Amino acid sequence: MQVSFATEPAPGRPNEDFVGAGADWAVVLDGATAPAGVDSGCVHDVRWLVHRLGAELGRLLLLEPAVALADLLERAIALVRAAHGSSCDLENPDSPSSTVTLLRASEKAVDYLVLCDSPLVVEVGGAVRVVLDGRASRLPERTISGVSAARNRPGGFWVASTDPRAAHEALHGSFDRAAVGRVALLSDGASRFVERFHLGTWSDLLDLLEKAGPGELIRRVRAAESVDPGRGKIHDDATAVLIGLSEGGMSG
Ligand SMILES: [Zn+2]
Repeated sequence: MQVSFATEPAPGRPNEDFVGAGADWAVVLDGATAPAGVDSGCVHDVRWLVHRLGAELGRLLLLEPAVALADLLERAIALVRAAHGSSCDLENPDSPSSTVTLLRASEKAVDYLVLCDSPLVVEVGGAVRVVLDGRASRLPERTISGVSAARNRPGGFWVASTDPRAAHEALHGSFDRAAVGRVALLSDGASRFVERFHLGTWSDLLDLLEKAGPGELIRRVRAAESVDPGRGKIHDDATAVLIGLSEGGMSG
């Protein structure tokens, strides 16, 4: 398996995305910033959360290769929850949180997990499929209190924060490794190449990652942001990972 990636913060801000990879796995996390003036009930910042969660996921991916990804994420969230300590209110719905996108290849299969809005783009049997958990963008009430009330609740949306049950709400599954071509893991600061700026299709995005590299994808997003800021966040942390699986699964 070949992996290349780039991650860049929004200009002038700390990076609240996280990317990590090993010989047969990759993980992308996109930490959520609490709106200004909202009490998170937590003494830790979003970077603390994504670094802790990324470290636990990496450790478990290396040491527990037979554990299903949703079970592995459940354990990682429980470990991070315990690491908060008694100074934090773990029932506060605005506690720091993160999206999770995971990929793990074994000899016969490619397992994936997507929680919240960091998409996975995968070529399967020659077609491009996008695995995107869009529940956060379909909430009936987009106010601060409406989002807060829907977070990690049935009928709302799910993120990795203090509730390990969120892991089993993720989209997850497996592809036959022999059928999988290129794969991309993206935070929404990078997937806006397609979703906000329409600079190309998902297939074009894979071609760009392969030919010019993840850094070039982010450069083009930043250029589009400076021309057409549009609505919402002008810039966002952006992370892109490209994975190439050799034919026949011999590279693992
Ligand atoms: Zn905390």
